[in-house]
Amino acid sequence: MSKEIDELKSIAGDYKTWALQARKKFIDLRLRQDLQIRELYIKLTKNISKELKKGGLSPIDKKRLQQIYGALKETEDALNGQLTINFEKYTKENVAAAVGYSKAITIDIVEKAEISKIVTSDVKNIYFRMNEKAVEAIWSRTQDGLYLSDRIWSKSRKYRQNMTDIIRAAVAEGQDCTKTAKALEQYVLKKKKTLAAEYPNMMARMGNRVPSDVSYEALRLARTEMTSAFGEATLSAAKISPSCRGVKYILSASHPKPDICDDITGTDKHGLGIGVYPIDEAPLYPFHCNCLCITTTVNEKSEDFVQRLKRWDSDPTSEPGIEDWYQNTYKKMNNIQK
Ligand SMILES: [Zn+2]
Repeated sequence: MSKEIDELKSIAGDYKTWALQARKKFIDLRLRQDLQIRELYIKLTKNISKELKKGGLSPIDKKRLQQIYGALKETEDALNGQLTINFEKYTKENVAAAVGYSKAITIDIVEKAEISKIVTSDVKNIYFRMNEKAVEAIWSRTQDGLYLSDRIWSKSRKYRQNMTDIIRAAVAEGQDCTKTAKALEQYVLKKKKTLAAEYPNMMARMGNRVPSDVSYEALRLARTEMTSAFGEATLSAAKISPSCRGVKYILSASHPKPDICDDITGTDKHGLGIGVYPIDEAPLYPFHCNCLCITTTVNEKSEDFVQRLKRWDSDPTSEPGIEDWYQNTYKKMNNIQK
């Protein structure tokens, strides 16, 4: 962990505290979301097993089966609703964590420059508006023709299919209701491995149709989408940050073997530094599922930028880059007319 963090600190320079905060938030959010998704699957599966247990030691008959299928449909809907709420919450938090870094840097330089043309509250406003747009963009984007909401829905449907498979296998076995209820609980709590030891015939019947971890697909989607949200928000914030010079990717220490990330993070393709890209030419991030590579921005040194801001304040033509940002980002996003 320390090598990547050292690299993050060195690229952030004076802003290292904020860079570390953004990274820590990202990691904390990922762990918290993982945990909440698992808990959601456990809670909902326990409802199914409760329904099954009502049948006691009798085998699962037609009537019970109809009740269980009904309960599974309700669970699928509940899962979809709650996963959607979960994804919305974490999308917002990841976007805010990513944008927070650029926002803090811009506010810092504006406060240090002390020029009357640029007001802190208006700076905050441009990041606030960008924040909202980034969240919307994530939900309105399609991938393989599917919106994020569709892909969440497909995970809920998959859950129902998996549960149906297990229950069908239990019916074919002639298993009693209590035993099947226990099998479902064990599966969701301890994954497929332990199930295979105690219910060998049932498991043999299902083969590979049932995944080893029932929540895995949703977890994988969550990790990829949230990393992507963080990455996109980093880019969007970089675009409206006047001191930003590019976006940098740092190899995660959790890469045992060389992969695509080594090339992206290890070469200087644009003469901006190792792993640094112009904002418009940033590679698609995350680079693969479960990728933990770090994304951050590269910013001009604060004292240099403060000097340039002051120069621009007395003569806008002396700093065309800042003037362009002032006219096309700052004024436009704040609806300043004059
Ligand atoms: Zn990676």
